[in-house]
Amino acid sequence: MSLLNDRLDALRGPVPAKGHDARTLAALTANPGCTRRALMDAAGVDKDAIAVHLGKPRPLAASSLALRNGAIFEQKVKADGGAELLRLLREVLGLPLNEAAHTDLAAVGTQDASLQVRHAYTRTAILEAARSTGSVRTLLDHPILQLTVAGHPVYLEPDVVAFQIDGVFHIIEIKSFAVVDGQANPTKVAAAVTQAAAYILALRELLQSEGIDANLVSHNVILITPRNFSRTPTASIVDARKKIAALTRQLNRLTHIEPLLDTLPRHTTFDLAYDQDERPTRDTKELNEALQTARTHYTPTCRHFCDLAYVCRSEARDEDLIDVLGSDVRDDLGGVDHITTALSLADGTRTPAPDQADLAAALQHAHAVRTHLRESA
Ligand code: SF4
Repeated sequence: MSLLNDRLDALRGPVPAKGHDARTLAALTANPGCTRRALMDAAGVDKDAIAVHLGKPRPLAASSLALRNGAIFEQKVKADGGAELLRLLREVLGLPLNEAAHTDLAAVGTQDASLQVRHAYTRTAILEAARSTGSVRTLLDHPILQLTVAGHPVYLEPDVVAFQIDGVFHIIEIKSFAVVDGQANPTKVAAAVTQAAAYILALRELLQSEGIDANLVSHNVILITPRNFSRTPTASIVDARKKIAALTRQLNRLTHIEPLLDTLPRHTTFDLAYDQDERPTRDTKELNEALQTARTHYTPTCRHFCDLAYVCRSEARDEDLIDVLGSDVRDDLGGVDHITTALSLADGTRTPAPDQADLAAALQHAHAVRTHLRESA
């Protein structure tokens, strides 16, 4: 393990490893085929700092207005000691939750509300509840859980843990995207459930570490969102089993990173060579060359979850890869890897291989329609 850690440290350079949160863990499942990301996450490389140094930072993923709306909605759901939340839980779980203790761990009765202290309080509260023989019904607000990622503990902060409802712990995710006529944006739901899967794994890890059955943590996530275009909250139960399995696979991959490290040339490093004023001094050409030793798998969706998206997009464009056009186009043009190949098949300047005849005919038809429309415009 120490040899592995030495190799990961060398990859990152002499700076502290960048930690994970539930969002970055959720992102692990979004592009499992990307070696570059797997290596950087295992080594705790600051991907955002690299993108900034190369002049290709990712724009802020969420606007300050969206963040404010999210915070307001969460406050509304949790107001009055979780009264509204309890009403929703009664509704969605069909339980007689007339009474439930509400414990806010953001105020733990001590001056020191650091992550470590809140985690210690969370741990005690959860273990007490798990060992209790009575029917404890408690909402734990602002808890801090811990999950082992690549051999290191990572702190995670779920919105709420509702626990010991009939002996089962539930994770509650509060999100401000709307559910309209029972339908929500599937990408946003998937991201929220993957995030909740990280909390479920952390809670299971805690119970297991004390010899308590991990199955006491439900695989169902309670998702609270606004109904239609109002701010009225509604609750739905979402099965997170697939996301839990995907995240577990990716976490295992981080602890079995040696085969990916072996694909890199010796002495490869993503070190930004900070000077004493903490300014990166690494030669950008050299850094780009180092990055290119790690295989990528760029798709336009990378922009939603990875700080290196604009770096990788630029590389994919320079290499003329079909991937920059998205997975639908890539699937439609199966077997054609480069945009110029597709264009030359379309205008007839390239002779298709025998297995490309149908594809070439379709591209030529599309090209002819487009030419006709342009000429008659
Ligand atoms: S942006 Fe680049 S490094 Fe990040 S997941 Fe996509 S291809 Fe991998």
